[in-house]
Amino acid sequence: NAKENGSSQYQFYDAERDQTSLERIILENDLEQSLDNDQIRLFYQPKIDIRSGEIVGLEALVRWEHPILGMIPPLEFIPLAEKSGFIIPLEQWVLRTACTQVKKWEREGRQVVPVAVNVSQIHLMKPDIFQTIMSTIRELDFDTQLLELEITESAMMHNEEHVISILNDLQGAGISVSMDDFGTGYSSLSYLQSLPIGCLKIDRSFVRKITTDTDSRAIAEMIISMAKQLGLTIVAEGVETIEQVALLKEIQCYNAQGFYYSKPVSADQIEGQYLE
Ligand code: C2E
Ligand code: MG
Ligand code: MG
Ligand code: MG
Repeated sequence: NAKENGSSQYQFYDAERDQTSLERIILENDLEQSLDNDQIRLFYQPKIDIRSGEIVGLEALVRWEHPILGMIPPLEFIPLAEKSGFIIPLEQWVLRTACTQVKKWEREGRQVVPVAVNVSQIHLMKPDIFQTIMSTIRELDFDTQLLELEITESAMMHNEEHVISILNDLQGAGISVSMDDFGTGYSSLSYLQSLPIGCLKIDRSFVRKITTDTDSRAIAEMIISMAKQLGLTIVAEGVETIEQVALLKEIQCYNAQGFYYSKPVSADQIEGQYLE
C-alpha cells in the first residue's frame, strides 16, 4: 500500500493495523493538533504536456508527518478529518501554503504554473466556501488565474444546485475547477454539461489498463471526445509507462500526471527539477 501511494521512501502508517478504537482516538486527537504542531507537509506533483515534456501545472497533495507513525498518506487521514470537521482548517492551510509557494517562485523569477488544490465534499458544502477562498486569495494578493480546485466526481454529485452555484462563483472570479477521478462516479451527461468546469481528470483506474484492456481504452477515448465536445481539457491521471504515454498521444490526450514523469515531491525538488 505504501508503494501504491507513491512514496515508498517513507515508513508508512498502515490502516490495516488500525483496528482498536483506542488507536483511532489517539490518531483523531493527534490530527487535531497536527497543524499547530507543524506536522502537515505539502507535496507537489507536476502536470505535463506529453508533446513537449513541459510542465503545465502542479497539484498540491497533503501528507501528515507523524512523530511516531511516520509519513501518513492522505487516504488514511482525510476521512478522519472529514468526520471531525478538521478538513476545513486543513484545506484552508493547503490553499494558503500552495498560493504562498507559487508567489515565492514568482518573486524569485521562476517559471510560474497554475497550482491545483483538492477540495473535499465537506468543504465544498460549506455555505461560505467561496468567501473564505476569496479572502485568502485577496490577503495573499494571489492571481486567481493561477489557482485550480480539484473536486471529485462523486463530491460534485451531492446537492447539485449548491455545487453549480459555488462553481459559478468560482468561475466568475477566474478560478477554474477540475473534476477529479472522472469515471468513478456516475454523473450524467446533462449534469456534466451544466457544470461550469474547465477540466476532466481521467481516473487512474482507466489509465492503468489503457494499453492492455480494450474496454478501458474505449472508455478513455469516449471521455476524450466527449470532453472535446464540451470544450474541456483532459488530464490523464496515474500515467506510469512510456506505452501509456504513446497511447495517450494517439488518442489525443495531451496532459498527463503520473509516476512516469514524477511522484509528488517537495517544493524544493519541484524547483530543482522543473522551475529553474
Ligand atoms: P488525487 O487528487 O486523485 O491525487 C492523485 C493521487 O494519485 C496521489 O496520491 C498521487 O500520489 C497518486 N498518483 C499520481 N500518479 C500516480 C501514478 O502514476 N501511480 C500511482 N499508483 N499513483 C499515482 P496521494 O498523494 O496519496 O493522494 C491521494 C488522494 O488524497 C488524492 O487523490 C486526493 O483525493 C486526496 N488528497 C490529497 N490532498 C488532499 C487535500 O488537501 N484535500 C482533500 N480533500 N483530499 C486530498
Ligand atoms: Mg486531485
Ligand atoms: Mg485525481
Ligand atoms: Mg485519484
